[in-house]
Amino acid sequence: MEVVGAVASIVTLTKLVLDGVKLAKTLYKAPDDLAALQDQLECFNVMLAEIEKCHNHDWPGLVSTTLGRARLTIEQIHQLVELKLLKTNGSTSRARRRAWARHKSKIHSLRDALRECRENLTTALSASSSSLSHRAEARLSFITQGIDLSRQSANTITKSLSEIQQSLEATRGAIQVQSQTVNDILRSVSSAAGLHRGRGNNEHMLAYPTFGGFLRPLVQVTETHGNCQHAAAELASFTGSRNHWPRSTEISRLDCATDISIRLNPASSFELSDQFFPELYTVLDGPLNVRLHAYSAYEEHSTELARTNCYGVFLLKAQRQWQRLTISVQISRNSRFWDYTKLSRSKPNYVTNSYHLPRSLQVQAAELLMEVQGLVDDAHLSFTVSENTHGHPSVTWSQEKTAPRHNPVGFANDEVLSLLDDLGCQRAFENEIMQVAMLQAPECFATSVNGHLLHEYKISGLAGECSLYTIQLLHCLSGFQHIAKLAAVILDSKGRQLKGFLREIPARGWLFGIIAKSLADGQPVPWSRREKWAKQIVEAVSHIHSKGFVVGTLGELSGTPIAVDNEDRALLWKFRNKAWANRRFPGHLPPEYWQQTGQGTDGTLCEIRDELVDVTPRCDIFQLGMALWLIASKRLPLNGWHLFQNVDSQSTTSFYEHANIIALPPLSDEVPQYYKDIIAACRSVTPTTRPTARRLLQMFPSNITPTTRELQSPFSITSPEKLISNFPQVAIYCDICRAEKMETIFHCDSCLCGDFDICARCFEEGAHCHDSTHFLVEMTTKHGVLLAVNNYHSCVKDEGRREIMHL
Ligand SMILES: [Zn+2]
Ligand SMILES: [Zn+2]
Repeated sequence: MEVVGAVASIVTLTKLVLDGVKLAKTLYKAPDDLAALQDQLECFNVMLAEIEKCHNHDWPGLVSTTLGRARLTIEQIHQLVELKLLKTNGSTSRARRRAWARHKSKIHSLRDALRECRENLTTALSASSSSLSHRAEARLSFITQGIDLSRQSANTITKSLSEIQQSLEATRGAIQVQSQTVNDILRSVSSAAGLHRGRGNNEHMLAYPTFGGFLRPLVQVTETHGNCQHAAAELASFTGSRNHWPRSTEISRLDCATDISIRLNPASSFELSDQFFPELYTVLDGPLNVRLHAYSAYEEHSTELARTNCYGVFLLKAQRQWQRLTISVQISRNSRFWDYTKLSRSKPNYVTNSYHLPRSLQVQAAELLMEVQGLVDDAHLSFTVSENTHGHPSVTWSQEKTAPRHNPVGFANDEVLSLLDDLGCQRAFENEIMQVAMLQAPECFATSVNGHLLHEYKISGLAGECSLYTIQLLHCLSGFQHIAKLAAVILDSKGRQLKGFLREIPARGWLFGIIAKSLADGQPVPWSRREKWAKQIVEAVSHIHSKGFVVGTLGELSGTPIAVDNEDRALLWKFRNKAWANRRFPGHLPPEYWQQTGQGTDGTLCEIRDELVDVTPRCDIFQLGMALWLIASKRLPLNGWHLFQNVDSQSTTSFYEHANIIALPPLSDEVPQYYKDIIAACRSVTPTTRPTARRLLQMFPSNITPTTRELQSPFSITSPEKLISNFPQVAIYCDICRAEKMETIFHCDSCLCGDFDICARCFEEGAHCHDSTHFLVEMTTKHGVLLAVNNYHSCVKDEGRREIMHL
């Protein structure tokens, strides 16, 4: 294809499509989705204009291929908008809602495809320019244009934006005049953008460019364990130019960990400059660009006049600096937020997936927090929400910051540091690591460390994962092939606070996720492969018990206790030496705990008691029975409720009462008798008659090795998107129909301890949570992570409709 002609024709087409999208935007009440599409189209057009301006007739082949693909995508958008969305013009709003529901995901995927084209195009273009300074200038002009664009789309001009624009233009002038080095330029750009980022009160106005997917590191082919020498050698050669690794001894230690990570593309010298933060150049609407993530929320107290909510949050305070904070927010009864901030009174014990704070409050709270000087981790701050004369909310301090309430790790900070010192763990510092993708909101990330991709877990202090215990276990048992490998602990940039830890990224994702996907695809994982995993798990449990540790998570029905690595080996992933006896997690503790957890001898619930209990090896064995059963059964394991429902009645109101079953439902004939005997032995009522893991291991036949044909072909990760798809959101299911793995959910922050979700279908049919005065917040999947859209829905009113509130 001839590039110049192609560009012109795409420009015309894009303008046509933009008109259609704008029309659809007014017609459909889905401004966010269509606005995002409009943004992408406009960005693309600016990019095309840039190409036209160049008058270059010598573009590489990749440019025209990508242009061809872009044209195809834009044509598809055109057809969808004209034929599917605008054709329903004149029909009822109900029909439009249906049409929207049908085509929404297609719109999303086309928008993403377009963005990908733009990113590829940028890569192709920047590769084709020869001179570095020319390239820098082109990039800067994209940045400037991007700011122009976000200014237009937000319809407001803020002072800070024009300041940035001026400073960028000044920088550009400087390049032309002087022969400054590229690193200097980049330093000034990223610091200018870093300084002003987030000042605007609208997320679309964040002062960093929408262009520049080209600077986003691409995850390349996985390095297998055997290639670690080679990887390390290459790594050493390019870390030479990276001088901000402050502690040289740590680098060499981290380098030793290269065999358990995935190599990232070393990219160019831009990316290696010490002031370069690639995350500044990533796309706008991803979860990593949200400054404040709540991981827990509960109602602290309430009076006739006001309510105080307490939130656990992670604040992205500066580039590569996340702070763990507690904030109390007081809301008065006459506030318009009153109805939308109802929370459960029970303190959450695990990280939930919700945003909790309405978007506009969240943005304001984040801004206020950004201004606090000398904010330390675990500080507790108090706000008041009030309305100004125009009815706009404003968040103000009700009290200056107070001392940390409790140490969330459960130990004094110096004790934690000395434990880490005793262990001699490898360390990474927060300012040296970069989150590439959020895998589970808000605490799990795919994170790049010195060019290697690892799994990051941010410590929130909730009992979801006993972090120090896990670190200790992983460190002490490192080297055993069926236990996840610890790569490093993460400390703040001064080395004074434990912030999280890094594990190898399990290249194939979660074991139960693989089984669930295979069942959904109608091609169940062959028995020999599942049998191999089962044996590996029992081996790991035996090893862990022999060293005096316990697993504590094998009974998790909806969690992620087991991962699968690049070589298709099962890895125990998640550990806990204390179990939470809570009726939200029934069925996982063996009978000897029932009295402690407030249950009768028959397993029924007598009283609600939240208590932490010690996990014993016998408890592990009982739970191992459940994990082995799930591996062998042909039911979708992500939602263990099916299990209880099938055993007992179909009633949804009484499943808590029937949750503590001991014997599990029979397995199919495909499963050999020895395996069924193992499960039965694990589920024994009397703890002393449960065999040890070592005995269980002896019950497996000695010759179980799947043939190569039965194993999947060697596995390689090609893109962050592919990687994220290996980590599906787990533990989310509809509390009405038990459907799981939903793109969109409606969530109540109050019912079921703030963990009530319903699926889009039940929602369409008029379902609501347990209280008709509650509002459901709409959440949808963005970049593989469920995040809240700022729509709050009432129950269905008398006239047959719901009220929708945008906050
Ligand atoms: Zn449902
Ligand atoms: Zn509710």
